[in-house]
Amino acid sequence: MAGYNSRGGAAVGRRTVLVRQLLTTLSSRRLPGAALALAGVSLLFPGCVNPNVMRSPQPGAQGSQPGGSNLTVSASCLLAPGKPTADYELEDLEHASSSAALLRRAFLLLECRRPDAALDAAAQVLYGPAAPSANEEAFARFARAEAYAMLGHPERGEYDRDVARHLALDVELQRRLDVHPVAEPQPAGPVASTLQIQSRARWRPMAPRRSNLEPLGTPRRITIHHSALYFRDTRVATSIAQLQVIQRDHMQNRDYGDIGYHFLIDPAGRVWEGRELKYQGAHASGANNVQNIGVCLLGNFVRGSAGQGPTPQQVAAMRELVTTMMQRYHFGPEGLHVHNDFKATECPGPLLEPVVADLARDLRRGITRTAGATAAGY
Ligand SMILES: [Zn+2]
Repeated sequence: MAGYNSRGGAAVGRRTVLVRQLLTTLSSRRLPGAALALAGVSLLFPGCVNPNVMRSPQPGAQGSQPGGSNLTVSASCLLAPGKPTADYELEDLEHASSSAALLRRAFLLLECRRPDAALDAAAQVLYGPAAPSANEEAFARFARAEAYAMLGHPERGEYDRDVARHLALDVELQRRLDVHPVAEPQPAGPVASTLQIQSRARWRPMAPRRSNLEPLGTPRRITIHHSALYFRDTRVATSIAQLQVIQRDHMQNRDYGDIGYHFLIDPAGRVWEGRELKYQGAHASGANNVQNIGVCLLGNFVRGSAGQGPTPQQVAAMRELVTTMMQRYHFGPEGLHVHNDFKATECPGPLLEPVVADLARDLRRGITRTAGATAAGY
């Protein structure tokens, strides 16, 4: 583990307190020139000074709840500018222990140019009592990389930035990570994906049984399935309910540690995060799951009255997801599979299988992007 300390952070913290006391004094006495002084202090300590000395959080503002209980692990929550209320928000979050609150604290500390303290907050997420989710770890490592860069040692954060890139599912976080490419050469081209992924938290899954999960390692193949449940509804709420049904079946009836698939694609073309990608999936039988990303298209793609074809939005999203994963993990079309490559099963169904074969053919020809794929972004 890279070493760090918080001495610098404490010193800056005292300075912030002093500044706040000065502001309170100026404001309460309505001294002439107070406005000028405020402007001067704001220039000296951008982001850490709140000119509204009376505490009045805006209703519904992110992080305005004491302890940050309304925070979620997403770029819109964690990376939002704290100005001009960064210092009050930090105070609110001082005793909060949720990962979202700790991460918000880390990014506010960075905004206040307190990288040592930000490293402390990120470390609490990474090495705290509860193992972080992939999403939480991505944000924590991004915060660390930024902190080291602020300390003048960007090389110390290169590993964190690399891991963050590997784990980041949040589109905005991905964008920010690409803004600061690592110095070391990339073995393949950059990932220029428009893919949007609905976070796992959004479908309110049951907690996984982590003791029943194994690490995935670096993916080198991806396998397409269908859910074998007729499903045409395009509403978010119905998709969420369907994911919960599948997870319950996998955990309660099949004793899996979590939902078996890493990604699920609904008929509207939304891509949902299933099992976290850092864990091996349960979708292709035994050793076939090793380093294998499991993707399930919701629907029953068989012929006859019980079946249906995949929607164009689903197909576009599948193509985008497969292409993105291949670029990100540097494997080619030989790594694209359907379930019945591994065992005798109808999955992913005779109406989906030729669509996957089309994609494999296009990938072999070097046609990696697909018209209409961006429409799948939700
Ligand atoms: Zn299958």
